[in-house]
Amino acid sequence: MTPTKLALIGIGKIARDQHVPHIAESEDFELVAAVTRHTAPDGVPAYRTLEAMKAAHPDVTALSVCTPPLGRLEVVGEALRLGLDVMIEKPPAATVSEARACAALAQEAGKVLYAAWHSREAAAVEPARTWLADKAIRRVTVHWKEDVRVWHPGQSWIWSPGVGVFDPGVNALSVLTEILPHPLILESAELRFPENKDAPIAADLDMVSGATPVRAEFDFDQTGEQTWDIEVETDAGTLRLTKGASELWLDGAPMDAPDDPEYRRLYRRFAQLLAERMSDADLAPFQLVADAFHLGVRRTVAPFNDF
Ligand code: NAP
Repeated sequence: MTPTKLALIGIGKIARDQHVPHIAESEDFELVAAVTRHTAPDGVPAYRTLEAMKAAHPDVTALSVCTPPLGRLEVVGEALRLGLDVMIEKPPAATVSEARACAALAQEAGKVLYAAWHSREAAAVEPARTWLADKAIRRVTVHWKEDVRVWHPGQSWIWSPGVGVFDPGVNALSVLTEILPHPLILESAELRFPENKDAPIAADLDMVSGATPVRAEFDFDQTGEQTWDIEVETDAGTLRLTKGASELWLDGAPMDAPDDPEYRRLYRRFAQLLAERMSDADLAPFQLVADAFHLGVRRTVAPFNDF
């Protein structure tokens, strides 16, 4: 099978850390060009605009978008006008309305849109979903706590309104919405905004899935060991997803999960969607973020200095 010729836009941390190496090892894709205002990955021709890239490489049929969430509608709209299928990094856009508009444009254009959720592709998610399917779930607790200085060094967009700790928090929500049998409904939230920032550094969300209480605690100021854990208490024991849902434990004993990195699975999924000419743009995790801003009580906390 001939690999799909792919371009990458937004050559920042995640493009370099994950996309470039996983595209390189993929049999389904060939990285042909980059669209960037700065420097492209080694050996990849760079263009300032999508239009210039497509003019130089008419055989490119797909675009992977790694820009920050603000401005995605413009990028996706332009890509679709140029006849490209599109995969976008999480979260899909700056707002739910904008993400819906991207999905509608892709449908009108007859192109594939994959709104990717990388944590949903973590290796233990599918085994957890399968195991939980026939259990009575009593309580779910999430601790998703990481250090913004490590994962977003020097990024000003991370403190844009609507982002902050929800940039990692939405990853936990993408896992919860996949493994729990009923839709999640937000009941209340507390968002803690540093005095000098326009976005929260921490948030607690209380939700329900059917009758099951689900509590999520997000923190963007966790130094030392990073915590990306989900604990599910059931009638058959306590299931724990750890290390960003890459590992799975039942009552303290490890359970099998394949050794299959998230971004390898993401590109495999994009290839599958292209083969089937299907889009996948589930906005449920992002809707919960919007709901948290809608209902959340705002607290002001001490100023935060990133560096
Ligand atoms: P980043 O390091 O800031 O890179 C984003 C890149 O997008 C920039 O380097 C820039 O590339 C381009 N860009 C275009 N318009 C921009 C603008 N207005 N402001 C800043 N950059 C702009 O961000 P990132 O951490 O890679 O995150 C990108 C996306 O991936 C986000 O949606 C994020 O949630 C997601 N993500 C990040 C991580 C992580 O650990 N950092 C993990 C998973 C997912 P050019 O110089 O090439 O134009």
